[in-house]
Amino acid sequence: MDFRKKLIAGNWKMNGTGEMLDEVRELLDAHPKPKYDILICPPATLLAAMSSLTAERSILTGGQDCHHEQAGAHTGDISGQMLADAGASFVILGHSERRADHGETDDNVNVKARAAIAAGLKVVICVGETLAEREAANTLEIIAGQLAGSVPDLATGANLVVAYEPVWAIGTGKVATLEQIGEVHDFIRMQLEKRLGAGVGRSTRLLYGGSVKAGNAAEIFGVSNVDGALVGGASLKAADFSPIINALDAAS
Ligand code: PEP
Repeated sequence: MDFRKKLIAGNWKMNGTGEMLDEVRELLDAHPKPKYDILICPPATLLAAMSSLTAERSILTGGQDCHHEQAGAHTGDISGQMLADAGASFVILGHSERRADHGETDDNVNVKARAAIAAGLKVVICVGETLAEREAANTLEIIAGQLAGSVPDLATGANLVVAYEPVWAIGTGKVATLEQIGEVHDFIRMQLEKRLGAGVGRSTRLLYGGSVKAGNAAEIFGVSNVDGALVGGASLKAADFSPIINALDAAS
């Protein structure tokens, strides 16, 4: 649907030092006037430098997590306000690696999302089932629970993006089938409409994530209710990420 601007997001995870900004320079040159939003979420150490490079240009920047308070005695943590101050306009929350490595719950994600939105950021909330949950035919139940718990009531199409990332497809080279992606994306849209109203539900962008690369991006972008992708490994090099961005042209 045209009113949802497509979004292609790169999650650099714990990868990247200063010299990797050259990849961003290459992307800026290759995509000076995209019809969609291009977002890169580097490690926090690169955020300010990347944001000054991309300011007023065609790439947006974001954080990979934030604290649920804006400031205070929380050694090692970063707040939404700090991300915004460093130039970020988005933050990824509830990525399955944070849920697994740091025991983040839906409640944690919800309170972080409220803090991030209060700081003026848009949130990319990640949901997704494990392989065991899919094999037990619990996928939709798990997704419904994660959405209900993680997405705050104040979410709107302007401040919320939901990324469907089956845990078994992240960094594994295994991609969900187009049928699996379509089923879950249609379900997420329906859940959001039911809970937040048709206006919010229909205007929220839904991304697929899980081993997206140049070779499979176009067909994934053709699935109903897929408004773009959250890309991990293939976002690290401009040569890999650029063809994924171009695949959106074909789908737009
Ligand atoms: C991710 O980490 O959000 C992700 C989708 O990773 P990858 O593309 O490497 O599977």
